[in-house]
Amino acid sequence: MKMFKRILFLSLSLTTLGLSGYWQQDVAYQMNVHLDEKDKVITATSALTYINHSPDTLPEIFMHLYPNAFNPGTILDQEARRRGWGSVDPEKAWTGIKIKQVNRSEIATTALNFSIFDDTLLRIILDQPLNPSDTLRFNLDWTFDIHSHFDRSGWEDGQFDMTQWYPKFVVYDKNGWHKDPFGDWGEFYGEFGTFAVTLDVPEDYIIGATGVVTDGDPGWVNVWVDTTLAWEEWNQSNAATYQSYRNNLKEGTRKSVKFLAENVHDFAWVASPDLVYEHGRWQQKDVHVLFNRSEGPKWSRKESHYGERALAWLSTQFGPYPWPQMTIVKSMGGGGMEYPMLIMDGYDSEGLVVHEIGHDWFYGIFGNDELDEAWLDEGFTTFQTRWYQENRYPNREDRMEDKRFNEFERQALPWLSRTDQDKNDVLSYIMSPENEPIAIHSQDFIHERSYRQNVYNKASLVLQVLQRYLGEKRFLAGMHLYYKRFALKHPTANDFIKAMEDGTGEDLDWFFDQWLHNTG
Ligand SMILES: [Zn+2]
Repeated sequence: MKMFKRILFLSLSLTTLGLSGYWQQDVAYQMNVHLDEKDKVITATSALTYINHSPDTLPEIFMHLYPNAFNPGTILDQEARRRGWGSVDPEKAWTGIKIKQVNRSEIATTALNFSIFDDTLLRIILDQPLNPSDTLRFNLDWTFDIHSHFDRSGWEDGQFDMTQWYPKFVVYDKNGWHKDPFGDWGEFYGEFGTFAVTLDVPEDYIIGATGVVTDGDPGWVNVWVDTTLAWEEWNQSNAATYQSYRNNLKEGTRKSVKFLAENVHDFAWVASPDLVYEHGRWQQKDVHVLFNRSEGPKWSRKESHYGERALAWLSTQFGPYPWPQMTIVKSMGGGGMEYPMLIMDGYDSEGLVVHEIGHDWFYGIFGNDELDEAWLDEGFTTFQTRWYQENRYPNREDRMEDKRFNEFERQALPWLSRTDQDKNDVLSYIMSPENEPIAIHSQDFIHERSYRQNVYNKASLVLQVLQRYLGEKRFLAGMHLYYKRFALKHPTANDFIKAMEDGTGEDLDWFFDQWLHNTG
């Protein structure tokens, strides 16, 4: 019923926006997930719904099995070795997702044939093709041997960073199936839909996830930081109380916690008995912050405010945040990574929070293909982060107060405008013979530096030049039209350019062609 209403609303609004002909698939995941924290194994069933809104008849369905990339000999492993990133070297002989069975779940249960190819892609062959506007329901039984932490996911020190962790629908759009293997730099592309995920974990685990809790206890109350006290004072007494609570639990006591997320294209979660919780709020949106006790002096009382400010900034400039909460988690990885309603940061930094939450717009709300047109997410969020910081810290004097800088940086380094930052980062690359255009598929850039300089820094510079050329008011008028047309959809660069042109009443091909498709 809910889904039907949404589709009706979608088709009405598409007509009024002049986007008739646009369609996207609709998916729903209902997953029951059991975490064996000792053997590091997930056992799960996924009850899946796939609605075919395309005009095409589909004889097969494809899904990503991203974790299968982290094994010796895979496309990713070979790339990682070639680039000197170290090798995937799991303690286990093999890690990843094993599919036990696939069953069509309408009327009578029918087993479906399937195969795995290119390390990380699952092909499911349908017994009857899926016609336009028909719905397919099927169940997957699967297990996941979790790898030790590598890149963005895995377990370490009792913490499970569960990202790219489940069989996930490959996007089918006007260009067909996006069957990209996971094996090189470059990121993701997902179908929008609903996730109802039940996590069965040890009783003392504290959980953060995409979505809202609809059943069970994520464990926040016992470790809720009282920010009216000094961190050390609160931590000392709470650590003792929490330890005695854990000691009193009977061995093997478990709990079940259910999260629901709507209109998102991915689902991530984190669980560990060593996390503590802080709460923030912006308007009606909760900001959940989870970090390890050892990070307390750095994270407490700061990260929640960074999150609140980021939501306020991004909603004002680029269109409202459509989901009920934002979770900021201390990950076991080094940098930062974005998921709908959840970001994972390896260290405390206002810039990192603003960058990753920015991705909830530029990939989360505007669900572009991050492999085909990576600048639509990384370029935009690099641009908005620098703009935010220039807004918040406009003068050299601000830096004298800003704890992000050490004494040497405050005194000796020149104050840089965001234009200087973009230029400093990208100029030597642009002047080099290796300079490539921005609009290249992620895996086709000649090397990682070219990918980074183009999709982050050069694209940020382009948006800044565009903003200055149009003036802030017209630039934002274009951005708001982009939001109105493509929030919770799959825009391409051409859709962005068209929105900018329609929003400003000006032809802009001459501008974008130079940057996106040429290097002159
Ligand atoms: Zn990013």
